[in-house]
Amino acid sequence: MVERNLRRRGIRDERVLEAMARVPRHVFVRPEHRAVAYADMPLPTRDGQTISQPYIVALMTEALRVKEGARIFEIGTGSGYQTAVLAALGASVWSVEASADLHREAAARLQEMGYAGIHLACGDGTLGWPEAAPFDGILATGSLPARPQDLLRQIRPGGVFVGPIGGLREQRLVRIEVDPTNAVEETLCACSFVPLVGRDGWHQPADQEG
Ligand code: SAH
Repeated sequence: MVERNLRRRGIRDERVLEAMARVPRHVFVRPEHRAVAYADMPLPTRDGQTISQPYIVALMTEALRVKEGARIFEIGTGSGYQTAVLAALGASVWSVEASADLHREAAARLQEMGYAGIHLACGDGTLGWPEAAPFDGILATGSLPARPQDLLRQIRPGGVFVGPIGGLREQRLVRIEVDPTNAVEETLCACSFVPLVGRDGWHQPADQEG
């Protein structure tokens, strides 16, 4: 997976490649998907949610430039795969999942696997985690309709936000570097993520696009 889907497609950060080689993705997918766990595609978790494709996980993780000991906030724990990749890089991770079932499953899985420095909660991740802020990086693993201004305030100067911003079906994966006076935004690629539903996410059903 690392050689064929990640390095060959342009992921260069050796620490990210090495962390993704170490985290067993098959443990995070549903039993019926184990055989394709290392193929480069998103897979369903439950309730219409997904675990992102490995290339996108690698691209987002690389864009965060995670240093050993960094404090990272993730919105959308899902299966816990991305959380584990961040922990494998030596980060302390705060991650929030809206679905109680997914939250419970991911918490049990990550604890059983023995990862340290992971703090999980069930709720609306678009609110951030003010008690643990400021973060070195924030990662949204579902889409947002607009730049999340309140979340950006939970990032320390020089820190980074990475996530998909745009419409319900298509978004731009953006990297925003936050500095004291402004925010520098860069588009990494076009993408299509499941929506984040919450205060600074989508408000269903009113937000449905025509
Ligand atoms: N990072 C996950 C992929 C998550 S997909 C992984 O590696 O498996 C996006 C997730 O965001 C879904 O599980 C969905 O339930 C969750 N979600 C949706 N809205 C949310 C919100 N406001 N706060 C936290 N999680 C949310």
